[in-house]
Amino acid sequence: MKYEGREESSNVEDQRGQGFSGAAVGGGIVGVVVLLLASLLGIDPRILQSLGLSAGGDPKQEQTGPPDPKQEDLKKFVSVVLKDTETVWTKLFRDKLDGATYKKPKMVLFTGAIQSACGQATSSVGPFYCPADEKVYLDLGFFDELTGKLGATLGGKNGEKAGKFAMAYVIAHEIGHHVQNHVGPPGSRQTYSSLVNSKHDAPDGKQYSVRLELQADYLAGVWAYYADKDLKTLEPGDMDSAVGAAFAVGDDTLQKKFQGRVNEKAFTHGSSKERVMWFQKGYSSGNLNGMHELFTRPYEDLERP
Ligand SMILES: [Zn+2]
Repeated sequence: MKYEGREESSNVEDQRGQGFSGAAVGGGIVGVVVLLLASLLGIDPRILQSLGLSAGGDPKQEQTGPPDPKQEDLKKFVSVVLKDTETVWTKLFRDKLDGATYKKPKMVLFTGAIQSACGQATSSVGPFYCPADEKVYLDLGFFDELTGKLGATLGGKNGEKAGKFAMAYVIAHEIGHHVQNHVGPPGSRQTYSSLVNSKHDAPDGKQYSVRLELQADYLAGVWAYYADKDLKTLEPGDMDSAVGAAFAVGDDTLQKKFQGRVNEKAFTHGSSKERVMWFQKGYSSGNLNGMHELFTRPYEDLERP
């Protein structure tokens, strides 16, 4: 993605190096559960608490050295991506949603742990959107996580530069959750966020979560369509790396990797096949209205093209 020398968003809050100490986060099974919660519609503080994952201790200023050039480059990249989401969604809200105004969310960069309006969270939950304060929370270290532990197939013709677009997909997905916080089913006063939140404790609550996550993937695809068509920022290999990332964070792939078996009933984000499919569907059509299909199709049909 072309980003060097391009305009950055003014809505980035850099809180790196201000993490909490004593965050009680382990690997193993807890890490897996947390990973599966990654990128949820905000993080339910009750879940974090029940897992004993709330960061304890007092905020502690970490040692700061000279800025790492790789991190600074990544910060520039994510700030340009955020700007591009603002440009695209401002236009889409105005043109496709009856002249609505797009309220630009903030993106908070942090390291280690962070206090959000949705509770305290650590980096291990992955990037997330908190509907209560309408902010996207991102630890830039997730990029290494994505390319390393999660093993997203990145690269392509353009090498590491194209690999960065995996991160753009992740951000666009979180911004998709912000869009869901303002848009709901046709004719309904409810937003998709509140609709799914109201189903949280229902027997089929997880199915609603999957629908919401796949819809966020679809919205990320719609964004990529306009970034490509209007902003002309996409480069060869970009979509390949984004698709690789979407595949890597599929529930079945994560379960296989970390638990050794697949349990469809425990899905919260959808299978790799579904995540890739809906992201690509949004990208190939650019049709915002197609988002509603995620909530009108029978659940079993979500894997059907
Ligand atoms: Zn999500």
